[in-house]
Order: sequence, then structure tokens, then C-alpha cells
Amino acid sequence: MIEILNPTELPRAKQAGALVAHILHTLRGRSTVGTNLLEIDQWAAAMIAEAGAQSCYVDYAPSFGRGPFGHYICTSVNDAVLHGLPHDYTLADGDLLTLDLAVSTNGIAADSAISFLVGDSRPAESVALIDATERALSAGIAAAGPGARIGDISHAIGTVLSAAGYPINTEFGGHGIGSTMHQDPHISNTGRPGRGYKLRPGLLLALEPWVMEDTDQLVTDPDGWTLRSATGCRTAHSEHTIAITEDGAEILTLPTQVRA
Ligand code: MG
Ligand code: MG
Repeated sequence: MIEILNPTELPRAKQAGALVAHILHTLRGRSTVGTNLLEIDQWAAAMIAEAGAQSCYVDYAPSFGRGPFGHYICTSVNDAVLHGLPHDYTLADGDLLTLDLAVSTNGIAADSAISFLVGDSRPAESVALIDATERALSAGIAAAGPGARIGDISHAIGTVLSAAGYPINTEFGGHGIGSTMHQDPHISNTGRPGRGYKLRPGLLLALEPWVMEDTDQLVTDPDGWTLRSATGCRTAHSEHTIAITEDGAEILTLPTQVRA
């Protein structure tokens, strides 16, 4: 199902996006050397509750995971890239952490992910990996707008990731979002321009380029949720929720939109 929001619903989508951005921005600041992933999960839970919002994750039980997720945020470290189940792990200097969060407020969901380095270490390969996903996300957003097609976004994302030298996995990608977190259309992180669903004002999309340094193969962690690179290489993931408007695309999950 592809949902199109009516103009009166857009403010609610913006509210959800601002909340996700605020929580991720806050958690990034708190994710320092010595922070435990379970603390990050507890902080996320508290901020979601304080805002009167609902987690999209706690009871989520899709075909690709094992039972209800049971946590409030995905925390993926180093070789973990998607659906990282928070567990008892203390962050170390130089860890590459991805936080992925989706919440719903007033019936509309927003979804965003950030990757960053913990502490003071800045390994060049990891900086490049994160940079590629951020640039791919920007390119995907730039390709979105009324009349553009899903394939235009996929092509823009894939072009950046390929030029940076990373293999692309097509099992997981972006998606429509609205009254629920995961909706059609699927947005592959590589594709042909001019193909697929034509974008219309009122469509909400979550674009999410993610890469692994030297493989396109995933393995599932024994926890049944966390997806890791098959080779143990590092990974990165950047995601924003955007709204297609009459004029183009508006990013709803920018930290700059955080409420005062
Ligand atoms: Mg996400
Ligand atoms: Mg998503």
C-alpha cells in the first residue's frame, strides 16, 4: 500500500520527524567512551515516553527478525549494520556506532539513522565509509520531488556508493512511511533512473543508504536481529524521512529542526 498524506497531516509528520531528530541528536551526544548500549536504549525509551510518542520498534515482529524487537532503538556497532539489538556492550574509543530510530506521534511515523565514531579516534577508512552514506543520502534526497520516480532516487544513491568503491546490497533499502513505519514503495540503494513509482506531493519516504566496506553479504547474529557484514568489515548507515511537496522534497528529520 502506498499512502499519500493530505496537507493537514503534514504538520504531524513534521512533528514526528523533529522528535526523532531531537532524540538521535541527544543520544549521539551521550554516546561516549564507556556508554553501554542498554543505557542508550533506556534513554531512548524515556525520551519517547516523555514526548507522549510511541516506539515503532518495541512490538515490531517482521519476517526478517526473531519475534518482537523488545527495544526502543537499533544500536549497531562496527560490523553490525542493520537492526542492531541493544545488548550489554560498553562503547570504546573508535567504535563506529549506528543509531536507527523510528517513532510515531499523533499517528504518523518518522525514521532516521546516523553513523558516527565514538571518542577521539578518527580512522580514515571509517570516516570515508560514513561520508559515503551521507553523500549518497543527500544525492537521493536531491533526486526526489514531484514527478521524479523511485528509480531516480535509487540511481542517485547507487551512483555515489559505487563511485566510493563500495559493494551494494539490495536486500534492504528505503521505504514508504506514514501511519506505519514500513510501507511501499521499496527504495533499493541502486537502480535505473526513470523506473518505478512516480512521486507525488504528500508521499513520505525514508531513504537509507547503508554500506559495508568490502562485501555485499550479510550474516544474522545469534540474537536473531542484528545483521552484520559477512567478512567482519565495518559498516555505515544514514537515513532521513522526507516529504514530497509541490516544490521538491523536505527533510523532516534534520537536527536543525529540533524544537527549542
Ligand atoms: Mg530506520
Ligand atoms: Mg527505515
